[in-house]
Amino acid sequence: MMDKIVIKPVGIVISDFEDTGNMPLGGTPAVIEIYPEYTEALHGLEENSHVWIIAWFHQAPRDLLKTSPKKVNPDLPEYGVFALRAYGRPNPVAMCLAELEKVEDSRLYVKGLDAIGGTPVIDIKPYYENDIVFSPDTPYIKGKNREVRQGLIMRHALFHHREECLDLYLAVRMAVIAEEYFGKVMSDRLGISVFGSGCLGDCLQGITRARLSNPPRFSFLKQDRLPRTIWTLEGKTLTITQKLECGAEEINRLSDDELFEVQFQ
Ligand SMILES: [Zn+2]
Repeated sequence: MMDKIVIKPVGIVISDFEDTGNMPLGGTPAVIEIYPEYTEALHGLEENSHVWIIAWFHQAPRDLLKTSPKKVNPDLPEYGVFALRAYGRPNPVAMCLAELEKVEDSRLYVKGLDAIGGTPVIDIKPYYENDIVFSPDTPYIKGKNREVRQGLIMRHALFHHREECLDLYLAVRMAVIAEEYFGKVMSDRLGISVFGSGCLGDCLQGITRARLSNPPRFSFLKQDRLPRTIWTLEGKTLTITQKLECGAEEINRLSDDELFEVQFQ
């Protein structure tokens, strides 16, 4: 049995961000410098919009077997470290999906990397369409407060829709409310009907992972009137209708009551 594996870093993360404790959940922009002896291995990588960055979390504790998802909600019960994305574990091999902005010589410019400056990079892999499982079964790791929950939903919306448009903000606000009534919005028991623009429908599909069938959770009707979403779970119905036309700044600033008419029965 092999009891030791030797891995040589192929590059290093260059970033001003050096505090693991404050790393945002969605990561930060960063540069990855690939060492000269490996730059030939980058040939063709620029054809990809997203890449897996495999790194070595050199500061992570390696004696940890159970912990709680502290950044999302420290009050939740502990999980085994193989069942979480927490950074402490016996072999802190980090796997991060990052958006590749450009490749220049030996440097990769990425967005959404959750590794601090100085982190050794051990491998790069392109992200392919067949890496997607659109609606996997996962535990409900509920964000500790509305700000965290909205941030997580925003990430899902952006990953899916890839455009920060007005209806993306609207979709996020609606989904945050639905989560407060029904819990996990990705639950395969939660149904959603969207009456509004294509952007709203697309964002909400990305946020909820609701499919048209197997199981049937999603329906969409394009309409030009003020948008409405109807959420259903176990005989309960939540209807959220936008009250007034408004811009992105208002969508982010107004309260639920100012922005929406909410009915629950
Ligand atoms: Zn859009």
